[in-house]
Amino acid sequence: MSTWNTYYQAHSLEDAIAVLTQSPSNNQIIAGGTDLLLEIQQGRHPPAHTLVDITTIPELNRLEVTSAYLWIGSAVPLAKLITWQPLQQHCLALYEAINLIGGPQVRNVATLGGNVAHALPAADGAIALLALDATVWIASPENGRTIDSSQVNQSTPNNLPIEVGQVRLRNQPLLDCYAGPGKSTLSAGEILVAFQIPLRKDGESSAFRRVMRPQGVAIAIQNMAVWLHLEKDTIMDIRIALGPAGPKPLRAHFAEEKMRGQKLSQATLSEATAAILAEARFRTSPHRATAEYRQHLTSVLLNETLAHAEAGRR
Ligand SMILES: Cc1cc2nc3c(=O)[nH]c(=O)nc-3n(C[C@H](O)[C@H](O)[C@H](O)COP(=O)(O)OP(=O)(O)OC[C@H]3O[C@@H](n4cnc5c(N)ncnc54)[C@H](O)[C@@H]3O)c2cc1C
Repeated sequence: MSTWNTYYQAHSLEDAIAVLTQSPSNNQIIAGGTDLLLEIQQGRHPPAHTLVDITTIPELNRLEVTSAYLWIGSAVPLAKLITWQPLQQHCLALYEAINLIGGPQVRNVATLGGNVAHALPAADGAIALLALDATVWIASPENGRTIDSSQVNQSTPNNLPIEVGQVRLRNQPLLDCYAGPGKSTLSAGEILVAFQIPLRKDGESSAFRRVMRPQGVAIAIQNMAVWLHLEKDTIMDIRIALGPAGPKPLRAHFAEEKMRGQKLSQATLSEATAAILAEARFRTSPHRATAEYRQHLTSVLLNETLAHAEAGRR
């Protein structure tokens, strides 16, 4: 069985979208290929007619700091992203998460776009992006879903190298990319262009922690990312993301509600843990862990990730 018939190196968004939308219909985006090629080889994904390599499209390789946001191109290799100083300064949770993805060879080619588009509920980069309130810019064919171009012009960073009109662009919350385990909502010809993450302000911090099997199965037994806004020891605002805890990455809204306005104390942590356990849908997976073990890890990870985020604020 061949993995693909044709390998196409796209040099612009329009170029990639044109190839992705032409027949036959099984043309497929490839970035680092660390998920996709294994899936095809192991028969979990049908072979592609044409693999469309998006890694040399300039807009997808852009890293930029605007007055309010970080702009992270979806095809920047993780190894390069780790060395970008604003990432550590503004998004410690994401920096920590991508430092843990695979080993150096994987990080040399793997991308954040692939980590999200693969739509696994516990992908490390995606969990960190969710806690950081990232939104996603998506390019689609002219006949794709409509967008409000006035919104694009207001919220894109200055000097965005995409001429609106050449392709359609829309901005949406990260979770709207998820349809279920391994299933994204992206339709044919749609490309994740970039992630937009609010800059860190005074009193804010974030952290990422995970528990992994030592044999190195690619996905964590459980992971968690926290974004925290503390004033003295009062939690002004908080976002908690974890996985796998259901069919999509989980934002622990119940726990966040319990914690807002409270002191960062053991009592608050116990209440928050109970709230996560009420909301999460942990399951037993044959190669990784039982649901009971994951329930136990929730309290451990919440304590550790919050303590780390609090320390990072200083
Ligand atoms: C040895 C090994 C260890 C790993 N360890 C980890 C780990 O610790 N944590 C973890 O989270 N993951 C891990 N992974 C999984 C994988 O490396 C990551 O999910 C990676 O970020 C995927 O990115 P990629 O560029 O290689 O995606 P690809 O394999 O190129 O693509 C994945 C999917 O996303 C689609 N896609 C890619 N880019 C875009 C885009 N811009 N727009 C729309 N669709 C797109 C592709 O069509 C495909 O369906 C590991 C993988 C391996 C092989």
